[in-house]
Amino acid sequence: FPTVGVLALQGGFHEHLSLLHKAFAHLKVSQPAKWQQQTPSFIEVRNPAELSRCDSLIIPGGESTTIAFIAAQSGLLEPLRQFVKVDRKPTWGTCAGLILLSEEANATKKGGQELIGGLSVRVQRNHFGRQVESFIADVDLPFLAQDGGPAPFPGVFIRAPIVEQILSSNPSEVPGGSQTTSSDSADRVQVLAVLPDRTKRVRNLKDVGDAADTENKANDIVAVRQRNVVGTSFHPELTDDIRMHVWWLEEVIKVCGPASPQ
Ligand code: GLN
Repeated sequence: FPTVGVLALQGGFHEHLSLLHKAFAHLKVSQPAKWQQQTPSFIEVRNPAELSRCDSLIIPGGESTTIAFIAAQSGLLEPLRQFVKVDRKPTWGTCAGLILLSEEANATKKGGQELIGGLSVRVQRNHFGRQVESFIADVDLPFLAQDGGPAPFPGVFIRAPIVEQILSSNPSEVPGGSQTTSSDSADRVQVLAVLPDRTKRVRNLKDVGDAADTENKANDIVAVRQRNVVGTSFHPELTDDIRMHVWWLEEVIKVCGPASPQ
């Protein structure tokens, strides 16, 4: 089984590791023929040696400038860029992780920040406002659907970014990611999920009083994929819903194969 690393410099890495273990336990029960014999290796990554053991990586939510700062101090920035953009190993970033995996982020007061890149997108950090403006909304992630129907996922948005611009030309605009066959289109940014109009958001953490405030927030892009890189604005690791981690393990095993390379 491939080694799945979680970048453990700051933020929600424990939560990701916990859900990875739960997702794997679920796969062993639900698909024993495929998963029973696998020996998972989920590791915390804090330095280049640990990163070099990984076949895939998750970058958690937290504070992207802090994670980038510690990564630079730890000599990890260039190895991370190599991992994602040259070796093209499966990498998934949540919230701050999405920011780090973007090629561009809106400038901070200090005039920018170090990014890893990999996704040809520009993100806008803190799009929905401050911590108190955190909310939970159902996000439709068709790739999680078992029966082809909608599969709402509890999206936890905390000072979350959105993808405000896709930088590559002629991207697929189909939410859910159209299944494409040509290798050319495989290089494009796929929009995996958009957030519905603000008025339709439910279960606000704060209150729903401002739901009538319908400044045009429709179609905020909150999940994208490009080749080996996936980014989500929200935090599946802060829910007890294992579906995205189950999906991620399935994606990783598709690419890396069942046996760990020696
Ligand atoms: N706002 C944070 C940043 O800019 C991300 C918040 C999060 O990961 N929950 O990095």
